[in-house]
Amino acid sequence: MDFRLSDDQLAFQASARAFAVERMAPNAARWDEEKIFPEEVLREAAALGFAGIYVQEDVGGSGLSRLDATILFEELAAACPSTAAYISIHNMAAWMIDRFGDGEQRRRFLPKLCTMEHFASYCLTEPGSGSDAASLRTRAVRDGEHYVLNGSKAFISGGGRSDIYVCMVRTGGDGPGGVSCIVVEKGTPGLAFGAQERKLGWNSQPTAMVIFEDCRVPVANRIGAEGQGFRIAMMGLDGGRLNIGACSIGAARAALEFSREHVSVRSQFGRPLASFQALQFKLADMATELEAARLMIRQGAFALDRADPDATMLCAMAKRFATDAGFAICNEALQLHGGYGYLKDYPIERLMRDLRVHQILEGTNEIMRVIVARRLLEQRNQ
Ligand SMILES: Cc1cc2nc3c(=O)[nH]c(=O)nc-3n(C[C@H](O)[C@H](O)[C@H](O)COP(=O)(O)OP(=O)(O)OC[C@H]3O[C@@H](n4cnc5c(N)ncnc54)[C@H](O)[C@@H]3O)c2cc1C
Repeated sequence: MDFRLSDDQLAFQASARAFAVERMAPNAARWDEEKIFPEEVLREAAALGFAGIYVQEDVGGSGLSRLDATILFEELAAACPSTAAYISIHNMAAWMIDRFGDGEQRRRFLPKLCTMEHFASYCLTEPGSGSDAASLRTRAVRDGEHYVLNGSKAFISGGGRSDIYVCMVRTGGDGPGGVSCIVVEKGTPGLAFGAQERKLGWNSQPTAMVIFEDCRVPVANRIGAEGQGFRIAMMGLDGGRLNIGACSIGAARAALEFSREHVSVRSQFGRPLASFQALQFKLADMATELEAARLMIRQGAFALDRADPDATMLCAMAKRFATDAGFAICNEALQLHGGYGYLKDYPIERLMRDLRVHQILEGTNEIMRVIVARRLLEQRNQ
């Protein structure tokens, strides 16, 4: 087993790091403070191939692996986890169209998504169905060559700004088998948005309800067969969870590096903070948790790339571990900074605020345990 990155991986890791340092890090605090969705910088990221990371090359994608994607997201999130996480969601939506769309749909939607001329959102959650996503109630009723959509989606990242909404809607009976995946384009009559949500973090990306009122969408916008939508949504999330975990790792790595610097230059009791063993042990534990989280994310990605039967479980384990570890590391970093960590003059409080939601979305960390336990018990019966 070889844990080293390949030359190609080292090259795009370096390019992502340079982009994050030059274009994202200097602006991240302002994007957070002023709630700016940085469209221009996102399009620059797209020009580097980060908007269709594992979309196939014939429609403008980069054709990279899930493992490659986790390396990229770690770098981007070290500068701005919120913006990196939006890029992850955009990639997830694009991949669903690439993987399950037909030739015409791929050619129609993906080239503009890969350049971020169009932004994408993933629409699963509803006001009444969060963790129990398969109970979603947004209806799509067939009327000739259209579906008529009624219902609403909650907490949609990119909501109101995105051009393409990849929506899970009910075309059949109760449960996961009644769900289909339909792309709704901005500007479609009957598509509306709620007010922008006011959030603890993730302020560089909009979040809003997406509302359908007799919204007529061509049948040609359905991705995959009727009834396949829930499976498509869950497969999207396997990779999405790895990326969100990788975003937690990137931010936690940055928090650790800031902390190492701070304890080295700050003195109390006539000596550098770094000379106190209690604080050295904190750094050691933070670094160890970070390393373990990265290994789990990369193993989950390796499993997903190989379509391993345990991939969903390994992705859920990795998401749970990496997002919990990431938040804990940022919280420890804040403690190591003392009162300064609490101030917006330092990046730590922003990193911590941004990482908190990673424990909640793309399936809460309780739901990750549900997924892991279900697979463990299935394996017992195999
Ligand atoms: C900033 C932000 C952005 C988001 N972006 C998107 C997006 O782009 N697209 C999208 O579709 N969704 C998005 N979401 C929604 C997110 O995925 C949901 O909030 C999440 O899945 C949890 O659903 P819920 O909020 O309804 O909580 P609930 O499902 O009501 O859960 C409440 C609590 O109960 C726990 N719980 C529920 N069921 C169980 C169980 N069986 N066993 C143990 N514990 C359980 C949960 O873990 C949680 O702690 C976003 C959310 C936020 C906050």
